Amino acid sequence: MDLYEHEARELFKGHGIAVPDAAVVASPREARAAAESLGGRVVVKAQVKTGGRGKAGGVKLAANPAAAELTTRQILGMDIKGHVVRKVMLAQPVDIEAEFYVSYVLDRAAGVFLAIASAEGGMEIEEVAAGRPEAVARIHIDPERGVDAAKAAEIAAAAELPPEAASVLSRLWQVLVEEDAVLVEVNPLVRTASGEILALDGKVTLDDNARFRHARWDASGVDASGDPLEAAASARGLNYVKLDGEVGVIGNGAGLVMSTLDVVAGCGARPANFLDIGGGASAQVMADGLTVVLSDPAVKSVFVNVFGGITACDAVADGIVQALESVHLTKPLVVRLDGNNAAQGRAILSGHAHPLVQQATTMDGAARRAAELAQQGV
Ligand code: GDP
Ligand code: MN
Repeated sequence: MDLYEHEARELFKGHGIAVPDAAVVASPREARAAAESLGGRVVVKAQVKTGGRGKAGGVKLAANPAAAELTTRQILGMDIKGHVVRKVMLAQPVDIEAEFYVSYVLDRAAGVFLAIASAEGGMEIEEVAAGRPEAVARIHIDPERGVDAAKAAEIAAAAELPPEAASVLSRLWQVLVEEDAVLVEVNPLVRTASGEILALDGKVTLDDNARFRHARWDASGVDASGDPLEAAASARGLNYVKLDGEVGVIGNGAGLVMSTLDVVAGCGARPANFLDIGGGASAQVMADGLTVVLSDPAVKSVFVNVFGGITACDAVADGIVQALESVHLTKPLVVRLDGNNAAQGRAILSGHAHPLVQQATTMDGAARRAAELAQQGV
């Protein structure tokens, strides 16, 4: 589960990492009042779970409360890489002298955490690493030892960060361990003109498997899912992840859905989501899945890819037919049924000829068709 910047900021603050004073608001009026209490001049920051907000126009300085209100009006509703801005954070502006990058990320290949740090913060670390790999320090963390003062000093020195940044590195490791995160990133970590070290932006990914240890993830400010579609899917018990494309994808089995995403991409289209309806694929689950996928305004066509195993295709086809009775289909649906009882399943769908439903017999053919339909934007 990815956190919003303002949620990451709270975690940092709770672990003693200095952050600018800030407030989160959802309307221009509130923004004006919040800016007043923050001292007038504020940075208005779009709260979306994607990076590069600055470049996209989602981070703006406002000189006074009236400007904060206006800027908030401009940023709310903005679409940043497919993420609609519903809240903004207003933060006290900081006089930046230097910007650094620090993060801990799970290095799955090595089976341990990796500290990544650079004195060239502010921009995307991938760009720094591509252009000047020597400017990025990468140091593995022994999980038994963690990041003690010596390790923190080693990372800071390797990345040529100021020595004062070492205490942030130790505290950031505490955030990772105590909050059960698999990623914590501060970009930029800044040194201000007055010599303070502040975390100006934060990204945290919590380990969903540890949810049972953190009742407050559900209770407190940490949203289960900021994306309304993901929240709707999670409320229906669906395994749904919003992506940035236009071809909705529904499949049974995570592996099949993953390869469906690849095949859609291979046809020159972009998948709009990951949705695994699991083995059962009952009418209710199919209806829930279709409802969620169709309510994504970016979706132009939907590809239902089912390989019948224990659940036979005729049962899945019945599920689709029943689902279409309760769901108002507004976009073309391409269905590919294969595996157990595929012929019976296809016959059931053909028998209920729906003007927006087409069938394809192969996964590649179905993906091509769904991609074409998405491009036509029918
Ligand atoms: P991102 O683009 O999504 O990574 O958003 P950031 O929160 O990192 O903001 C982008 C950039 O805006 C930062 O790298 C800073 O250069 C700048 N910025 C953010 N907050 C402040 C601030 O308080 N003062 C100043 N001067 N610049 C800021
Ligand atoms: Mn940033």
